[in-house]
Parts: sequence; C-alpha cells; structure tokens
Amino acid sequence: MNAADSTGATGATVLTGATVLTGATVLAPERQPDGTAIALLGDRIAAVGTEADCRAALRGDGVPDDTVTTEDLTGSTVVPGFVDAHLHPMVMAVFEQQVLLDQVRSIAELNDLLADRARNTPPDETIVGFQLDGEVLAEGRVPTAAELDAVTGGRAVVLLCRDGHHAVGSTAALHRAGLDDPGLVPAGGHVVAGADGAPVGLVGERAVEPLMALMPEVTLDGLVGGIAAWADRLVSQGVTSISAMCQSADEGPAGPAGAMEALGWAALSGDLPFDIQTILITPEPSEVFDLRDPSLHDPARGRRLDAVKLFLDGTLGGRTACMHGPFADHPHERGMRTTDDDEAYRRMEAAHLAGLQICVHAIGDAANRSAAELFDRLLVRHPGRHRHRVEHASVLDDPTIELFARHGITAVVQPINLRSESHWLARRVGLDRLGWTYAFASMARGGVSIAGSSDAPIERTDVLAAMAAAVDRGGQAPEQALTRSEALALFTTGGSFARGTEDELGSLAAGRRADLVVLDADPTDERTDLDAVGVRSTVIAGEVRYRSERPVRPPG
Ligand SMILES: [Zn+2]
Repeated sequence: MNAADSTGATGATVLTGATVLTGATVLAPERQPDGTAIALLGDRIAAVGTEADCRAALRGDGVPDDTVTTEDLTGSTVVPGFVDAHLHPMVMAVFEQQVLLDQVRSIAELNDLLADRARNTPPDETIVGFQLDGEVLAEGRVPTAAELDAVTGGRAVVLLCRDGHHAVGSTAALHRAGLDDPGLVPAGGHVVAGADGAPVGLVGERAVEPLMALMPEVTLDGLVGGIAAWADRLVSQGVTSISAMCQSADEGPAGPAGAMEALGWAALSGDLPFDIQTILITPEPSEVFDLRDPSLHDPARGRRLDAVKLFLDGTLGGRTACMHGPFADHPHERGMRTTDDDEAYRRMEAAHLAGLQICVHAIGDAANRSAAELFDRLLVRHPGRHRHRVEHASVLDDPTIELFARHGITAVVQPINLRSESHWLARRVGLDRLGWTYAFASMARGGVSIAGSSDAPIERTDVLAAMAAAVDRGGQAPEQALTRSEALALFTTGGSFARGTEDELGSLAAGRRADLVVLDADPTDERTDLDAVGVRSTVIAGEVRYRSERPVRPPG
C-alpha cells in the first residue's frame, strides 16, 4: 500500500508482491493481543501476528526478504473488510441519480438542494427526491407545493416520503399527474387540499403513483453512473462484500419496474470489486438456475447466485408489518401478510430441496413467528445443512428467538433503523414491545447468529454509524444494546456467515482473501466516538481500492 491516492471502486493499486503492514491495532475481528502485523501476498492474507511471524510466513512462501514492502500503520486499526449482507443495488442506482433527502433537517436545506438540482437538470425534466421525512425537519412538516414552486421556478418536482406511502408534488407536477382535478384522483388515493380546495402538495397512497410516473426514464447511462457512484461510496466506507437483492419478476419492492433488475445487475456488476452474492426475489426458486450464468455465478471470481427471497409482510413505517396486536399509535391496524403460509412454504421447500439459501423478509412479531414456524416445519421434515436467514427480524418474541436458535436461522438486521426511526418507533410499537424491537442482545444471548446490513437505499450504507446505533440505540431499549465488539462482528464475521463465506471472508487469518479496512481509531475502544472514526484505506483482494490521507466520512 505504498502508492496512490484515492482510487475508487473501479480503479485499483495492485499490491504487487508481498506487503507487511506493521504497527497497527489488529482486530481480526477479535483483538490480537501480541500481533500488530499482517502479511499480504497477492490476493491473500499470508499471516497475522508479530512482524517476525509475518516475515517468516512470507519467507516460507518463497518470497525473498528484500522484495517485501513494509507499510507502517502505527496509530491505525486494521479490521476485516465490512460485509453488507442486504442491499438493493439496482434501486440504489436509480436513487443515486435523484436527490437524496435523508440527511436534510430543514426546509431551508431542502430548498438549497432543490435549487441546485434545478440549475443542473434540463428544464422539462422532473426533479425527483427520495426519503423525505417531515418529522425530522426543523419545521416538523413536509414542504408545500408553493414552496417547491418558488425555489425551482415553477418546475415539476416530486418528493417521495420515506414511508413510501406519501409524496409531495409541486403545482406543475400535481397538474401533470392530474391530481389538481378531483375527478382524476385514483380510487384509494388522497390529495390534501387547502381552504380554497386546491391541492397543497401532499398526496397519499394510490395518488402517489401518478406523481411517480413523472420520474425521468431510467437510462443505461444513468444506471451505470448510479452504480459507479454508490460503489465508490461503499469502498470509502470500508465495505468489501455485499449481498445484492434483485427482482426477476413483478414481485418485490420496485414492483413491475423491477422485473428486469436481475438481468440489469448481471450486465452492469461485472467490474465491481466486491465479493457479490446475488439474492433473487422471485416466486419461482428454480429461476435461480435459469439466471445462473458466469456474470452472476462464478464462485472462483467472487460471484454467487445461490439464494431466494420472499416477503411475509410489509414495514413498520408503512404500518404493514404483520403484528400479533395493533400498533400503539393506530389501534385499529395490525399490518398484513403479503404471502400466506401455504405459498411461503411451497417456495421455501422448493428452494431448500434445490440446495438454495432461503431469505424470508419478516418485520412484525406475527410475521417473524410465522417465519420461525415455517422454518421449523421445513427443517423437521427435511433436516440437513442450510444457511437460511430471516431479513430484518425487527419485532420478536421468545418462541421465535428459540426457534431461530434451534434451527440455526441467521437474523440479518439493520441497526441504523434505530436512528432513522427514532422519532416514531416507540410510539408505533408501544413501550411494551419496544424491548422486543431490534432485540439484538436477546438474539445474541439466545444463540441466534446475527448479521449487519443496510437495506440500502432504504438506509444509508455507513457501517460505522450502524455500529454506533447497535451500541447506543439512541437510548431505545438499552438492554438490547450490543457491545462494540459484537457490533463489529455484525459487519464482519456475522455478515460473512449469513452469506456462507465465513471460510473466505469476514476475518483476518492466513489464507483468507486480503479484504481489510484501515481505520484511524479503534472502534472497540470505549473512548472512541464511533461516529468520528475515519476510513484511511480499503483493500479488496489485495488491491487498494480507497485511500485517504485525511479521512473524512462521506455523507450517506
Ligand atoms: Zn430490503
């Protein structure tokens, strides 16, 4: 690691020959008390231990001493490359081209972003923003159509709210979508009107669709640029391995627009440096084998298509998570099942018998109990090796945790939810269920393996922020907090186990792929502010993909 500046996801500095990194705190992810050195040879880790151990190992591999490069990392901490076990790469690519609003904290900030975007896009193109959340803005509300008109010169602007069920349109957008004519509002949709009867901007449910239809067409160039942008950000955040959710049919969060995701991902992911597991969202597990060409499945090249995902319920934000009892803030609602037990079992059995990994989306406590019982039925009838998992595992109960542990079901969680949902989470689930929500400690102590992930673009991909959330929880049900070491394990060994790559990735040991992150502080030291830790460099398969002399955490 002796050359180069920041190289990005698509450029790399190859560590030709052998390198010994010395002087660092090494977390493998367990602390290495007497080892402060790592030897790298080609795309592999040759040794972890003392500097003498490392030099001896390279000598044993036939590398002459005088050809070994030494890099002094005194003051740094080296950890395994981070694993993000659940993200949506094609939706990320689409979001990347639009205005991302999740870090906006006031309407004034929003106005700056929109005015900037208006200057830089053709006048007839709709400006689209994602992840608007009025409750986190200083004003405590979403903007009005009049405010959007003023800041963009009357252009068509559509801002989709974080809950996915609401959007705000400018006057031009509402008009083009037909929503300023009460006769044209779709059944099941609503448009908030002012005293004069004219729409004020906010629309809900089925009225969101005509606004979203104004979104500029997704182009190939746009997708290529979007993927390159998020890939650069991920390497700058220390991420070296991902599990990528892709639809192959209408079913899934992107709806019919996502039917081509898997094919697009196959065409566009080839040059990415990450180890990539693709997880297919499909009603027919056998489709995995139809799509299994080398672009998505070539294990020697770090590409695997070996898993399917199905949805048992919706989300807490949309109040569609399937709950045992009603939501505390909406006493007549308890969410819904999106796939019933019979259909879910049919898919699970087909996938299991085909040797595929099953990923079950379950958020509400009733959905998670069903997931646990379905896995119980499946694995009692067809025992055998598997690496099945439940995605989110957001609200749980004791019998569910017990069944997950008994059957070795991994929970793939998103700790950053504790930050993005903190302004409504307790109100929605109620105080009696808050202790069962994102119940990381109960799972860890109960013998359930847990893995960290972002679910991007629903959440941002900043692993260190997610670790901080798993540790501090923003004060919500603090008894469910993880230790710093457990939080690091979520995104290293835990994530790697969830995708079946624990012998290859997620830890620093001789023979493992040389995926590592150099941090400017020890994230497991109680004195370290996790939100201030910077990534100095990211190495993937022995190649420096990112380097920053003065680490700055990028937003997002
Ligand atoms: Zn997801």
